[in-house]
Amino acid sequence: MAKARILLVEDSEAQAGITNEALKRSGYEVVLAGDGISAIKAVVATPPDVVLLDLILPGMSGTEVCRWIKHNNDTKGIPVIMLTSLSSVNDKASGIKAGADDYLPKPYNEIELNAKIYAALRTKALQDELRQKNKQLSELLAKMGTLAITDPLTGLYNRRQFDDVLEAEWKKSQRYHYHVSCLLADIDFFKAVNDTYGHKAGDLVLIEIGNILKKSIRDVDTIARWGGEEFIVMLPHTDKGQSLLAAQRMLEKVSVHEFEQFPDKRLTVSIGLSCSSPSVNTKEQLVEEADKALYEAKKNGRNRIEAHCAIE
Ligand code: GH3
Ligand code: MG
Ligand code: MG
Ligand code: MG
Repeated sequence: MAKARILLVEDSEAQAGITNEALKRSGYEVVLAGDGISAIKAVVATPPDVVLLDLILPGMSGTEVCRWIKHNNDTKGIPVIMLTSLSSVNDKASGIKAGADDYLPKPYNEIELNAKIYAALRTKALQDELRQKNKQLSELLAKMGTLAITDPLTGLYNRRQFDDVLEAEWKKSQRYHYHVSCLLADIDFFKAVNDTYGHKAGDLVLIEIGNILKKSIRDVDTIARWGGEEFIVMLPHTDKGQSLLAAQRMLEKVSVHEFEQFPDKRLTVSIGLSCSSPSVNTKEQLVEEADKALYEAKKNGRNRIEAHCAIE
């Protein structure tokens, strides 16, 4: 196990020598500093596990050094034990006010010195562990948050997240009177991909087509995997003409895309398009109309767009 590192800040060479010997006898690695500035440099360069800090130092005082350590995010977790030459109440108070964790009146005996260092190290170890656990916990929470809203295969939003985004966007669009369009895209004859090339190849196709569709829309638009081989897109501030352009871009990009798994084969999608209007005035209706339009696109031959929009 690595030795605990103690930074001893002491301007009296004689005192530093005695304490240094005592610390080494107890198995600690000791770093020495003779004044405040050197102490701060040492704390930054190689953060110690404990700082033994003399109160009276030339230039910057021990209290100031302590305040610096305790105000700095990277160093504030390091325990500071103030070494006070007088055991006056004022000395103790100024150290504690500056954030010192403990104090030790000089002259101190080795047993007391070791007991204080041991206690400080134990507290620091517990704090470090707690900080580490908290970090792991926030990472886990962030990961769970992402998992809850993401489709694991394509990395796009899942259906539930799409519903939430649509709900929020729909409310805004009603309040500020702007149009929202919806596209529902379904891969044509996708079952044949699975049947011919296998389910794994089918999965890769879903990922690739998801990417193509995502690249065809603006940052303000929202795309999600609606289910199976269907993708849904919501386009705020968009009327029929603009959403048709986006849908055409998608159709074109998919139809020319070369898939690594089968370079000679091309795939297509069919798209149903709907727009908000006085007659399509709930978000559920918006999706329903896109679904009906998609059904027509399939019926009318696939690789095409059908639109259900009362407005132009
Ligand atoms: P259409 O042109 O009418 O849309 O025909 P289709 O074959 O694309 O549609 P169909 O509904 O008959 O088949 C969809 C297929 O998608 C069936 C299902 O096994 C497959 N599928 C759904 N989810 C996944 C998935 O996550 N991975 C893979 N590889 N296949 C999936
Ligand atoms: Mg001194
Ligand atoms: Mg399909
Ligand atoms: Mg389908």
